[in-house]
Amino acid sequence: MSSPLNLYSRYIKNTYGQRVQKIPIDGGFTCPNRDGSKGYGGCTFCNNDSFSMGVKELSIQAQVNNGVELYRRRFPELKKFIVYFQSYSNTYKDVKELERMYLEALKIEGVIGIAIGTRPDCIDKEKITLLENLAQNYEVTVEYGVESLSDETLRRVNRGHSVRDFEQALDLTYGRGIKLCTHLILGFPWETEADLQKTCQRIKKYPLDFIKIHQLQIIKGTIMGAEFEKNPFHVIEKEEYFKMLMEIISHLDPKIVIQRLFSDYHRDYLISEPWPQSLSQLTSEFILFLQSFRSYQGKNFS
Ligand code: SF4
Repeated sequence: MSSPLNLYSRYIKNTYGQRVQKIPIDGGFTCPNRDGSKGYGGCTFCNNDSFSMGVKELSIQAQVNNGVELYRRRFPELKKFIVYFQSYSNTYKDVKELERMYLEALKIEGVIGIAIGTRPDCIDKEKITLLENLAQNYEVTVEYGVESLSDETLRRVNRGHSVRDFEQALDLTYGRGIKLCTHLILGFPWETEADLQKTCQRIKKYPLDFIKIHQLQIIKGTIMGAEFEKNPFHVIEKEEYFKMLMEIISHLDPKIVIQRLFSDYHRDYLISEPWPQSLSQLTSEFILFLQSFRSYQGKNFS
């Protein structure tokens, strides 16, 4: 039976015919809602240390070389890599400095592209032109974190930008040869069925190449974590998440490639109860769940 999901592993196999390893790095960036230009303290759910894997004290080249060496121990046949500018907002510097950093990554042997995690309010025409030029020779992905398609949620989590900002960033980027990715979190405790349906209707309109979705987890060292410890609230459970995810996935354009469906923070960082399954176990379980409801990506897309 064919998969009910258009997963990244299949995209990589069909596009490159071999494994391509993403190597996360830390380019020493910050965020506008951490450095005071939009706010302080960052998004209430975020502790960058909980997911960042790079070492900002090292050069980009050294971080990539370390990553290559590490992954080649597990997969000695690896030849192709995508450098993932992961930590904080990776377009939040002067365009000349960005060019120097991206080129430093792209010049490394075996690197076929870059993936750039950023915020929708950290992009402009000049930066898009830089990325468009790089995309003529490399796979260049911009990953705009929006996290929720509800302005009320964005306000409550101190995001410092709106859904409209996200849509404007998509408009600015679309059609320039740059791959578009976004990142959504499901399970904010105040979001309702109506919010979920609004998200389903919005997500189907966006011209995305890739998407990452994950469940809300409560992380140590965050504003939300402190709120949770003071006044515990319901944290989304696996069965609930599967149902929400099925609804979103059924509205998703079948052409959009799914890069991620679950988060896997190390349990040392978690305040909420960790889910014991690995990412691949959760994905397999979710596929069985979809099949049991005869659902699939794009079932309600049209
Ligand atoms: S989620 Fe992203 S934008 Fe928000 S504080 Fe963390 S790194 Fe900054």
